[in-house]
Amino acid sequence: MTKSEAQHFVHARVLRINVGFLLAQGVGYYRVAEIDLPRVRLAEDVTLDFLRGDLRLSRNSRGILVQGHLETHVLTECVRCLTPFYYPVHLLLEELFSIPPHDDTPYAVDEAGNLDLAPLLREEAILALPMSALCRPDCAGLCPQCGQNLNEGHCHCQTEEIDPRFAILAQLHLEDRSEE
Ligand SMILES: [Zn+2]
Ligand SMILES: [Zn+2]
Repeated sequence: MTKSEAQHFVHARVLRINVGFLLAQGVGYYRVAEIDLPRVRLAEDVTLDFLRGDLRLSRNSRGILVQGHLETHVLTECVRCLTPFYYPVHLLLEELFSIPPHDDTPYAVDEAGNLDLAPLLREEAILALPMSALCRPDCAGLCPQCGQNLNEGHCHCQTEEIDPRFAILAQLHLEDRSEE
Protein backbone atom coordinates (compact mmCIF):
# COMPACT_ATOMS: atom_id res chain seq x y z
CA MET A 1 0.00 0.00 0.00
CA THR A 2 1.36 3.40 -0.91
CA LYS A 3 1.26 6.40 1.38
CA SER A 4 -1.39 8.16 -0.71
CA GLU A 5 -3.64 5.09 -0.54
CA ALA A 6 -3.34 5.00 3.24
CA GLN A 7 -4.65 8.56 3.39
CA HIS A 8 -7.87 7.46 1.75
CA PHE A 9 -9.00 5.36 4.68
CA VAL A 10 -11.97 6.67 6.56
CA HIS A 11 -12.06 6.10 10.29
CA ALA A 12 -14.40 3.43 11.66
CA ARG A 13 -16.07 6.07 13.82
CA VAL A 14 -18.11 7.16 10.78
CA LEU A 15 -20.06 3.97 11.46
CA ARG A 16 -21.30 5.30 14.77
CA ILE A 17 -24.82 6.47 14.11
CA ASN A 18 -26.77 8.66 16.47
CA VAL A 19 -30.27 7.22 16.69
CA GLY A 20 -31.70 9.82 19.04
CA PHE A 21 -34.18 10.83 16.33
CA LEU A 22 -35.53 7.25 16.29
CA LEU A 23 -35.68 6.90 20.06
CA ALA A 24 -37.95 9.93 20.22
CA GLN A 25 -40.44 8.10 17.97
CA GLY A 26 -42.82 5.30 18.78
CA VAL A 27 -42.41 1.59 18.14
CA GLY A 28 -42.68 0.78 14.43
CA TYR A 29 -41.02 3.98 13.23
CA TYR A 30 -38.12 3.42 10.84
CA ARG A 31 -35.68 5.19 8.60
CA VAL A 32 -33.69 3.91 5.66
CA ALA A 33 -30.17 5.23 5.33
CA GLU A 34 -28.04 4.92 2.24
CA ILE A 35 -24.48 3.86 2.95
CA ASP A 36 -21.72 4.78 0.51
CA LEU A 37 -18.30 4.77 2.11
CA PRO A 38 -14.80 4.65 0.64
CA ARG A 39 -12.12 2.37 2.10
CA VAL A 40 -12.66 1.93 5.80
CA ARG A 41 -10.67 0.11 8.46
CA LEU A 42 -13.18 -1.46 10.85
CA ALA A 43 -10.53 -2.81 13.21
CA GLU A 44 -6.86 -3.81 13.20
CA ASP A 45 -7.75 -7.02 11.36
CA VAL A 46 -10.60 -5.99 9.04
CA THR A 47 -10.45 -3.46 6.22
CA LEU A 48 -13.18 -2.90 3.65
CA ASP A 49 -12.35 -1.45 0.25
CA PHE A 50 -15.74 0.30 0.19
CA LEU A 51 -19.15 -0.20 1.72
CA ARG A 52 -22.39 0.36 -0.19
CA GLY A 53 -26.02 -0.42 0.33
CA ASP A 54 -29.12 0.33 2.33
CA LEU A 55 -29.58 0.22 6.04
CA ARG A 56 -32.98 0.15 7.68
CA LEU A 57 -33.15 1.24 11.30
CA SER A 58 -36.42 0.43 13.06
CA ARG A 59 -37.58 1.31 16.52
CA ASN A 60 -39.06 -1.69 18.30
CA SER A 61 -39.95 -2.42 21.92
CA ARG A 62 -36.48 -3.79 22.71
CA GLY A 63 -34.31 -1.22 20.96
CA ILE A 64 -33.26 -0.54 17.39
CA LEU A 65 -33.41 -3.28 14.78
CA VAL A 66 -30.71 -2.89 12.12
CA GLN A 67 -31.37 -4.53 8.77
CA GLY A 68 -29.12 -4.07 5.82
CA HIS A 69 -28.02 -5.40 2.49
CA LEU A 70 -24.51 -4.18 1.86
CA GLU A 71 -21.87 -4.84 -0.72
CA THR A 72 -18.21 -4.66 0.08
CA HIS A 73 -14.76 -6.04 -0.65
CA VAL A 74 -12.88 -7.37 2.38
CA LEU A 75 -9.09 -7.34 2.58
CA THR A 76 -7.70 -10.84 2.97
CA GLU A 77 -4.70 -12.92 1.92
CA CYS A 78 -4.56 -15.57 -0.80
CA VAL A 79 -3.95 -18.99 0.81
CA ARG A 80 -1.74 -20.06 -2.08
CA CYS A 81 0.44 -17.07 -2.89
CA LEU A 82 -0.05 -15.06 0.36
CA THR A 83 -0.73 -11.85 -1.60
CA PRO A 84 -3.19 -9.46 0.06
CA PHE A 85 -6.28 -8.80 -2.04
CA TYR A 86 -9.90 -7.66 -1.65
CA TYR A 87 -12.50 -10.40 -1.66
CA PRO A 88 -16.08 -9.42 -2.73
CA VAL A 89 -18.84 -10.26 -0.26
CA HIS A 90 -22.49 -9.41 0.37
CA LEU A 91 -23.40 -8.66 3.93
CA LEU A 92 -26.93 -9.32 5.09
CA LEU A 93 -27.47 -7.66 8.43
CA GLU A 94 -30.27 -8.24 10.88
CA GLU A 95 -29.31 -7.40 14.41
CA LEU A 96 -30.93 -5.84 17.43
CA PHE A 97 -29.15 -3.05 19.26
CA SER A 98 -30.87 -3.26 22.60
CA ILE A 99 -31.87 -0.45 24.94
CA PRO A 100 -30.67 -0.80 27.63
CA PRO A 101 -27.85 -3.36 27.14
CA HIS A 102 -29.14 -6.91 27.51
CA ASP A 103 -27.47 -10.32 27.92
CA ASP A 104 -29.44 -11.67 24.95
CA THR A 105 -27.64 -9.52 22.41
CA PRO A 106 -24.01 -8.45 22.10
CA TYR A 107 -25.00 -5.06 20.69
CA ALA A 108 -26.61 -2.09 22.40
CA VAL A 109 -27.33 1.60 21.90
CA ASP A 110 -25.09 3.55 24.27
CA GLU A 111 -26.25 6.17 26.75
CA ALA A 112 -25.58 9.01 24.31
CA GLY A 113 -27.92 7.36 21.78
CA ASN A 114 -25.18 6.01 19.52
CA LEU A 115 -25.19 2.73 17.73
CA ASP A 116 -21.79 1.50 16.53
CA LEU A 117 -21.97 -0.59 13.37
CA ALA A 118 -18.22 -1.26 13.14
CA PRO A 119 -18.07 -4.30 15.50
CA LEU A 120 -21.13 -5.86 13.82
CA LEU A 121 -19.72 -5.29 10.33
CA ARG A 122 -16.35 -6.67 11.41
CA GLU A 123 -18.00 -9.85 12.68
CA GLU A 124 -20.08 -10.27 9.52
CA ALA A 125 -17.15 -9.57 7.22
CA ILE A 126 -15.06 -12.26 8.93
CA LEU A 127 -17.93 -14.76 8.68
CA ALA A 128 -18.43 -13.96 5.01
CA LEU A 129 -14.82 -14.69 4.04
CA PRO A 130 -14.15 -18.24 2.84
CA MET A 131 -11.70 -20.35 4.87
CA SER A 132 -9.29 -20.47 1.95
CA ALA A 133 -9.65 -17.48 -0.34
CA LEU A 134 -7.80 -17.49 -3.65
CA CYS A 135 -6.67 -14.28 -5.37
CA ARG A 136 -7.89 -15.93 -8.58
CA PRO A 137 -9.16 -19.46 -9.34
CA ASP A 138 -5.98 -20.47 -11.14
CA CYS A 139 -3.52 -18.91 -8.69
CA ALA A 140 -0.20 -20.69 -9.25
CA GLY A 141 0.97 -20.17 -5.66
CA LEU A 142 4.51 -20.02 -4.38
CA CYS A 143 7.41 -22.26 -5.30
CA PRO A 144 7.81 -24.58 -2.29
CA GLN A 145 11.56 -24.44 -2.68
CA CYS A 146 12.46 -20.79 -3.29
CA GLY A 147 9.23 -18.98 -2.39
CA GLN A 148 8.92 -17.27 -5.77
CA ASN A 149 5.35 -16.10 -6.52
CA LEU A 150 4.66 -18.22 -9.60
CA ASN A 151 1.93 -15.81 -10.80
CA GLU A 152 4.67 -13.28 -11.39
CA GLY A 153 7.00 -15.59 -13.25
CA HIS A 154 8.77 -18.90 -13.10
CA CYS A 155 11.77 -19.75 -10.99
CA HIS A 156 14.39 -22.27 -11.98
CA CYS A 157 13.54 -24.91 -9.38
CA GLN A 158 11.13 -26.96 -11.51
CA THR A 159 13.62 -27.39 -14.31
CA GLU A 160 16.00 -29.34 -12.09
CA GLU A 161 15.84 -33.04 -12.75
CA ILE A 162 14.83 -35.35 -9.97
CA ASP A 163 17.57 -37.73 -8.91
CA PRO A 164 16.41 -41.21 -10.06
CA ARG A 165 16.89 -42.62 -6.52
CA PHE A 166 14.50 -40.01 -5.13
CA ALA A 167 12.10 -40.69 -7.98
CA ILE A 168 11.74 -44.26 -6.69
CA LEU A 169 11.13 -42.96 -3.17
CA ALA A 170 8.49 -40.59 -4.51
CA GLN A 171 6.86 -43.50 -6.30
CA LEU A 172 6.75 -45.55 -3.06
CA HIS A 173 5.30 -42.58 -1.28
CA LEU A 174 2.47 -42.34 -3.80
CA GLU A 175 1.66 -46.05 -3.42
CA ASP A 176 1.57 -45.62 0.35
CA ARG A 177 -0.94 -42.85 0.02
CA SER A 178 -3.29 -44.72 -2.27
CA GLU A 179 -3.80 -47.34 0.44
CA GLU A 180 -4.90 -44.79 3.05
ZN1 LIG B 1 -2.89 -16.23 -5.02
ZN1 LIG C 1 11.56 -22.00 -7.06
